[in-house]
Amino acid sequence: MGAAIMASPAAATISGTKNTLSINTAALPEAEIPAPAKFTDPDWTAKGEQRAKVWLTRLETLWINTGTLCNIECKNCYILSSPKNDALVYISALEAARFLDEAEAALTREIGFTGGEPFLNPEFPDMLEDALSRGFEVLVLTNAMQPMQRPRPRERLLDLKDRFANKLTMRVSLDHHTRQLHDEERGEGSFGKALEGISWLSENGFRLAIAGRTSLYECEDAGREAYRALISDNGWDVDADDVKQLVLFPEMTSAEETPEITTACWDILDIRPSEMMCATSRMVVKRRGADAPVVVPCTLLPFDEAFEMGPTLAAAALADGGMFERGAVKLCHRHCSKFCVLGGGSCS
Ligand code: SF4
Repeated sequence: MGAAIMASPAAATISGTKNTLSINTAALPEAEIPAPAKFTDPDWTAKGEQRAKVWLTRLETLWINTGTLCNIECKNCYILSSPKNDALVYISALEAARFLDEAEAALTREIGFTGGEPFLNPEFPDMLEDALSRGFEVLVLTNAMQPMQRPRPRERLLDLKDRFANKLTMRVSLDHHTRQLHDEERGEGSFGKALEGISWLSENGFRLAIAGRTSLYECEDAGREAYRALISDNGWDVDADDVKQLVLFPEMTSAEETPEITTACWDILDIRPSEMMCATSRMVVKRRGADAPVVVPCTLLPFDEAFEMGPTLAAAALADGGMFERGAVKLCHRHCSKFCVLGGGSCS
């Protein structure tokens, strides 16, 4: 990762790696002193304040990323899923099982599966069954389109629903409540196909949730009302007032300016580190070319290798140095600020 430069009138310290070195800026004209960069030094912000960190209080949810391949390509997909992107490859059922073993020992409540589109991974139904058989609550994030609607996945799903009905929740991404904006985001015809999938799940008695987005042009209340009408028109069994059944995410645009999060921010903003997703969850990803999966702090940081915590949950709990301190995560990414601390986002 890059190094941050904290300038003082006489000297600037370059830190962010194990090696620390000083450069004398007294000889430089003021305009030539390099501006400090944000989100680079794990411990210090560009202004020289101590960066906030978050400790794992309890592993409530273990996310398993099934791979980034997806049947569609959305404009604002935070994980850049597409029919071509296999930056995160399919995890196997055996690899997932090792993490389920650890999660069982940690008394984890919930396993979340996310992609890409999980139903593209040929071993996904097996890992889903494995998680349910061990007694976990399971949350599946899907677009409910063709991959889920094929006969074989449907058969497996119906069987699992009959055996574990109250443990399995299917959360379908429906980016907007209008066909026009949804199709603009996800591709022509995707709204209709998603509605088919949601209706099939609802008619067959699955526990159902919908994940939408509040577009840049509407507030959450207006969005919730419009989704409520869509849910009612289609007769889906979803409570639009329940924030877990109708989850509305803000648009994620990383390009915008966002402040760094310091230890003082918790009191200033009156929020607690324990409210962050990384206080209660971890995610497992398998990178293309890697021999084995690794653990990362949350669903929002799947690609940045600086945030790799180790090959097992046990190793992740002890991750130290760089972005971590004895298992705690240093909030050195703009998503930490924009989406979590200031945006109030969470995936479960
Ligand atoms: S993006 Fe959010 S959940 Fe992930 S490490 Fe940063 S604060 Fe924690």
